[in-house]
Amino acid sequence: MSSLFPALTDGPADRPALRFGERSLTYGELASAAGAVAGGLTETRRVAVWATPALETAVAVTAALLAGVTVVPLNPKSGGKELGHILTDSAPELVLTAPGEELPAPLGGLPRLDVDPAARGALPDDRERDPEDPALIVYTSGTTGPPKGAVIPRRAIATTLDALADAWRWTGDDVLVHGLPLFHVHGLVLGTLGPLRRGGSVRHLGRFTPEGVARELSGGASMLFGVPTMYHRLAEALPGDPGLVKALAGARLLVSGSAALPVHDHERIAAATGRRVVERYGMTETLMLCSSRWTPPDPRHGIRVDGEARPGTVGVPLPGVELRLVEEDGSPITSYDGETVGEIQVRGPNLFTEYLNRPDATAAAFTADGWFRTGDMAVRDADGHVRIVGRKATDLIKSGGYKIGAGEIENALLEHPGVREAAVTGEPDADLGERIVAWVVPADPQSPPGLEELAGHVAGRLAPHKRPRVVHHLDALPRNDMGKIMKRALSRG
Ligand code: ATP
Ligand code: MG
Repeated sequence: MSSLFPALTDGPADRPALRFGERSLTYGELASAAGAVAGGLTETRRVAVWATPALETAVAVTAALLAGVTVVPLNPKSGGKELGHILTDSAPELVLTAPGEELPAPLGGLPRLDVDPAARGALPDDRERDPEDPALIVYTSGTTGPPKGAVIPRRAIATTLDALADAWRWTGDDVLVHGLPLFHVHGLVLGTLGPLRRGGSVRHLGRFTPEGVARELSGGASMLFGVPTMYHRLAEALPGDPGLVKALAGARLLVSGSAALPVHDHERIAAATGRRVVERYGMTETLMLCSSRWTPPDPRHGIRVDGEARPGTVGVPLPGVELRLVEEDGSPITSYDGETVGEIQVRGPNLFTEYLNRPDATAAAFTADGWFRTGDMAVRDADGHVRIVGRKATDLIKSGGYKIGAGEIENALLEHPGVREAAVTGEPDADLGERIVAWVVPADPQSPPGLEELAGHVAGRLAPHKRPRVVHHLDALPRNDMGKIMKRALSRG
């Protein structure tokens, strides 16, 4: 296998690589700093990285990957119980951190290595490393149960980043605006390792704000990776902010992932800026699976169309990804009719190796013939575009003999002017099997839209059996640090 980051050794040393706030590193400086960290990792097999959104985190991860040391990124915001579980489960020998960080109790017993971005050392050569070597152990978001440690080999990282480069025409000329945390695949693999593998650069905002996005995109950045809650904030800010409109209109590529992008937000951004957000779908265990392809704007049309980006879909399988939809009895669905719902199962060189210390969970996650069960349900449009309906465990409601996806009802609710945020779940019902429950954050808390109003709204857009039977009003939806709605908390509440 070639190096994970050829630009560190082969490219121009003065090219910008990373910028976090006021501090930045060129490729030459990153190579020296990573070399210095790698020098402290000889004889080490596995390290934890205290993954604050800082230069040190990016240097630490780059150094460890080049040195062949497995990285366990830690969420600095996670509570003591979750940290304790991750540390016991993954048993790192060291923790890499920025100098001066105060580490919480569960990390107390672990030797620490402070990362100095100004230090100098010789970069290890990673070209001969086994592609199957474990590069990362990333804990899943814990949306459906306790987080599991997915062991991600070097091969999967290289494969997924190169597939995205192909789909998005992502090159070393791209400059990424980054506002995501660094302890999940989205912010770490795509947002940090991705630009470094291409030889391009990253500008991290520290904390996401629409102003920061506008500033960077007007100041030379070409693309933005975000989660749907960020695009929601951008959609809300656009009407009052001509500078933001101009900045988004001028970007080369806007990408959303980690959860479904509401159609309403997609359409509002397209209407205001002429840009369609490219949605991609992936998981910790599989890295990236689907995306629409980006094509350059056609100069004959005044507006940029971003290839095939289509609201409500995640595009088509990426190069190298085999994807099928499977019925409950295990038989693959062969018709692309936009209606037949099945579980997404995948194969390909982008997949993880196993769940750490969980042979039971690993075995249960694969079919006898080697397909990974994603637990996500979808339909395919006639031309193959994948439309995610939701998760098998929480988003598929069996009501009155129908299988109903929560996602399309959420999208319909969000089109109601009185609804700011919406989530849909099912709860047991004596007549229907399950009834549809809507959890709504009203746009105006003084006059929240009621059941009759919202049921009529949904029945008018979708089929009548998809209307909610119960509406709860909330101040906010429970979300995790990636902005994902925690439906487990809703159903219990
Ligand atoms: P856990 O597995 O611990 O319950 P999680 O599944 O949320 O948590 P991740 O691996 O971070 O952990 O998230 C992957 C999931 O996110 C996918 O299985 C899918 O349900 C959802 N997802 C990611 N991208 C999209 C998208 N574009 N549209 C809809 N859902 C998405
Ligand atoms: Mg999952």
